[in-house]
Amino acid sequence: MSHIQSEYTVALAGNPNVGKSTVFNALTGMHQHTGNWSGKTVSVAKGVYTYHQARYVLTDLPGTYSLSSASPEEEVARDFLTDGAYEAVVVVADATCLERNLNLTLQILSVTSRVVLCVNLLDEAKKKNIFVDLDTLSKELGIPVVGASARGGVGLNALKDAVALMCSSPEPAQKFPPMSSEETVKTAETIAKVCVSFAPSKRRTLDRKIDRFLTSKYTGIPVMLGLLGVVLWITIVGANYPSSYLMRLFQALEPTLFQALTALGLPPSVVLALSAGMFRTLGWVIAVMLPPMAIFFPLFTLLEDVGYLPRIAFNLDRVFCRAGAHGKQALTMCMGFGCNACGVTGCRIIDSPRERLIAILTNVFVPCNGRFPTLIALITMFFAGQIVSPMQTVVSALLLTLTILLGIGITFLVSRLLSSTLLRGVSSSFVLELPPYRRPQVGKVLVRSVFDRTLFVLGRAVVVSAPAGLLLWVLSNVNANGVSLLSHLTGFFEPFGRAIGLDGVILTGFLLGFPANEIVLPIIMMCYLSTGSLAEYESLSALRTILTQNGWTTLTALNTILFSLCHFPCATTCQTIRKETGSWRWTLVSFLLPTAVGILLCILTTTLARLFG
Ligand code: GDP
Repeated sequence: MSHIQSEYTVALAGNPNVGKSTVFNALTGMHQHTGNWSGKTVSVAKGVYTYHQARYVLTDLPGTYSLSSASPEEEVARDFLTDGAYEAVVVVADATCLERNLNLTLQILSVTSRVVLCVNLLDEAKKKNIFVDLDTLSKELGIPVVGASARGGVGLNALKDAVALMCSSPEPAQKFPPMSSEETVKTAETIAKVCVSFAPSKRRTLDRKIDRFLTSKYTGIPVMLGLLGVVLWITIVGANYPSSYLMRLFQALEPTLFQALTALGLPPSVVLALSAGMFRTLGWVIAVMLPPMAIFFPLFTLLEDVGYLPRIAFNLDRVFCRAGAHGKQALTMCMGFGCNACGVTGCRIIDSPRERLIAILTNVFVPCNGRFPTLIALITMFFAGQIVSPMQTVVSALLLTLTILLGIGITFLVSRLLSSTLLRGVSSSFVLELPPYRRPQVGKVLVRSVFDRTLFVLGRAVVVSAPAGLLLWVLSNVNANGVSLLSHLTGFFEPFGRAIGLDGVILTGFLLGFPANEIVLPIIMMCYLSTGSLAEYESLSALRTILTQNGWTTLTALNTILFSLCHFPCATTCQTIRKETGSWRWTLVSFLLPTAVGILLCILTTTLARLFG
């Protein structure tokens, strides 16, 4: 039987994207999300492992490039390290770009010499013909150095040995006093020169060639748009069939549920509220949302895993600078594609408070996954419907890409407006790391995107749509003065809705959809169904008929698309903005700003349509 004889605290530090989470997971067995770019390891995670009768409490510090500047991540790391409440610090470094990693190592060595350096990604380095002389490196730095390929589990036992030895020995003599940043850079350069050797590498040349193509002035942005279009096209093509299958399935189940509930002896109004209200809305949300999400998320995560997202930031950096915003905003926008609340939290990767606020306030202009299905459905129904099948999906994908581009364009304009009014200032420069391309781990990507994202977002939608369906049914079946509450509500918004080219039902849909954007279109449909005839709704063209019967024209569809792209963020995102900015005032701005843009756009298209007939 083994007895734990001692307990040690060990910190894990390193630049972002060096495999720190991978080392952490491998040592502690505790699962953590591993991403491909900075900003993922913002919070501090803890884990425990035992080795040779000792217990090691491992604290995973946020990935940082230095300890000096004042981003929240660097503060956390610096405070922890200067506190000195640990027996060892493991610095994880990337063997393929050791020199840059040595900067942080040297800074940490000026705080403590209880450091073990783990040179990770040796397998990548080997492929690129980069060789690191670990013994010389150890001598130069005066600390133990262990080589590893953490993803394959190589070198982890040697790391555990080195940590055990460090924890149980007296602190080694300090070799590096605090230096200025220029001195640190020079020292890192000198050490790297002695310890790292390169041989010509096909892989490195290939990476550079790919980068030249993906980030050049001429090809970078077209390739980016092309990829976006392809991803959206695959999503639309793939989602069509399962969507209509699920719609038919839920429609077929509704009578069965009705009978079962009636057989239970429930009053007819309750049976109807549960089947025609709650169940129908729920079925709708699942049928419309699940298929596109289940396709889009894995594709997007795949691009993230290959290492493409930082290239997007690189391509868009110049435009963002011109808008007085930060290049990393492109990355937070990418996160917004999944969920705006995640995008807003992701804005923590932007150090300057001014630029962070701009990124937070404009994140909602990227359509989140809750709005994608609405956009896809409306575009397919009203703008690509007349064209025969394969072509229809291509047109839908193109139009969806254009819609997203419009969102990006509005982001630039509003960022620029903000940085010349409320949030005046010039954009700060930053060093964006372009990590090497990596073979994606398809299995992991699938699991991660299905569990972390798809099911999470769907779960939220389901939790919101069931009570919303019930509420909607109650509103449309409880009368006041002979008219249903829902009609009162839609009637109240009707004049304003009509004035901007929408109608009262659409505005009610957006308002009642405040808890989650996913339910906006289902609410609109349910409103029409509850007031008009109960038509069949098992396919998109049947849905189109319901909408046109209720006065929708191509202009109404266009305006609904524009308003879906530009309106107040959902409740979760508002809550997140309140938390991230710590201010109700900015939360209010984030609510009003996109709504005003949306209303203006609708007025603009309606006026143009009236002018040009
Ligand atoms: P962190 O940002 O430092 O926490 O880095 P992660 O642990 O999230 O790793 C970033 C990426 O590098 C992930 O795709 C990992 O699978 C990959 N990775 C980590 N360690 C290794 C390794 O030793 N070899 C290779 N080839 N990839 C690795």
